[in-house]
Amino acid sequence: MHFDTIAAISTPMGEGAIAIVRLSGDEAIQIADRVFSSPSGKKLLEAPSHTIHYGHLIEPSTAEVVEEVMVSIMKAPKTFTREDVVEINCHGGVVSVKRVLELVLKQGARLAEPGEFTKRAFLNGRVDLSQAEAVMDLIRAKTDRAMNVALNQMEGRLSRLIGELRQALLETLAQVEVNIDYPEYDDVEEMTIPLMIEKCTWVKSEIEKLLRTSSQGKILREGLSTVIIGRPNVGKSSLLNSLVQENKAIVTDIAGTTRDIIEEYVNVRGVPLRLVDTAGIRETEDIVERIGVERSRQVLKEADLILLVLNNSEPLTQEDERLFEAISGMDTIVVINKTDLPQKIDLQKVKELAGDGKVVTTSLLQDEGIDELEEAIAELFFEGTIESGDLTYVSNARHIALLDKAKETITDALRAAEMGVPVDMIQIDVTRTWEILGEIIGDTVQESLINQLFSQFCLGK
Ligand code: GDP
Repeated sequence: MHFDTIAAISTPMGEGAIAIVRLSGDEAIQIADRVFSSPSGKKLLEAPSHTIHYGHLIEPSTAEVVEEVMVSIMKAPKTFTREDVVEINCHGGVVSVKRVLELVLKQGARLAEPGEFTKRAFLNGRVDLSQAEAVMDLIRAKTDRAMNVALNQMEGRLSRLIGELRQALLETLAQVEVNIDYPEYDDVEEMTIPLMIEKCTWVKSEIEKLLRTSSQGKILREGLSTVIIGRPNVGKSSLLNSLVQENKAIVTDIAGTTRDIIEEYVNVRGVPLRLVDTAGIRETEDIVERIGVERSRQVLKEADLILLVLNNSEPLTQEDERLFEAISGMDTIVVINKTDLPQKIDLQKVKELAGDGKVVTTSLLQDEGIDELEEAIAELFFEGTIESGDLTYVSNARHIALLDKAKETITDALRAAEMGVPVDMIQIDVTRTWEILGEIIGDTVQESLINQLFSQFCLGK
């Protein structure tokens, strides 16, 4: 496909050692060549692919030197977009990089929209939609584990699996076609139904397998929303501080989001923990008091994990029991803190109240028990499994919704097949499943969706 030549600043705005302005399109090398001057007089247009060149950028109308640069030339098709790509490395200051961008825009490049480079990689067939989406996940990944999931997806592991499922469905559809076109061969029908049941059962179980990874995938991608609750003075802020200190706090930089609830990310054994309402914990004693009963119920409801802190050196109070009630049915870890002080809490009662919830003991003052707590968190969501290298996680909400839909239609097909519904009727559900799965990799999606998806990307990517 042929598009115009786009340009954008591909590094974050700010001061740094270098910044990169990237161009992509048929004219990319020509545009760079018009403003580039090398000490040896060499022309970028004549440069071999995948080479880098030192020189200056010159404003042609005034002959003024704009910047000292290194320019990489990468010719199609072995590039990120499958088009000619030029990357201009300049000094990493806001003014410098803007001047370079303005210069190439004046020479005929168009300012790229957010995600447009990746969109071209998709439109030019270098990656499919799920791989393109993984590029964004990769940029936003908060822990190594989340990054590995994104990398797997970018390398096309999910795409390949989806491709195999669609192929199996296509084979059964082809069989049905034979059946309809040659009704005189009775024995074809006899073969078709069992084959269809067999293939659909396999596709369904694979979809279910993927869906089972989705809660973990989502946690890795978005963080495990965690709320610390407990009576005043039990050690909530101490717990928060230990978690933040022991684990590198994850720096998040999402511009333009205003939140009335403050969050902090920490990395617990590769699980990004999103600690919700940390301000509430730090500033006032009681989350309920601060944000009101209704609002705190809402916060609790949306949490993936509750850490309920109790005081080892005091008997359980009614308030403690009320907290247990408020969180019943949720994933909870009970933290009995202050084990350095004499025990007055009724441990048996705590275990009863906790039910399925795990109970760990800590002395945050003496730095004890945090390891066990972290172990318990990792175990609760990853069942203690070390991340298996070849597991394909689905983490993207769009993919999960489509897999859910595909599961429904394939289940309909299976039910119909088992009930002896004519095969050409079942064909409709099988076709629909094939289409839905295609949407994951962008085979059967509408342009408006594609535009919307890529618009969520960063500029210059
Ligand atoms: P919060 O009100 O629940 O946030 O509780 P804090 O974290 O502010 O702790 C209240 C008090 O208990 C502080 O004086 C802490 O130093 C103390 N504290 C926290 N953890 C422990 C512990 O394990 N043992 C003892 N003895 N004191 C602790």
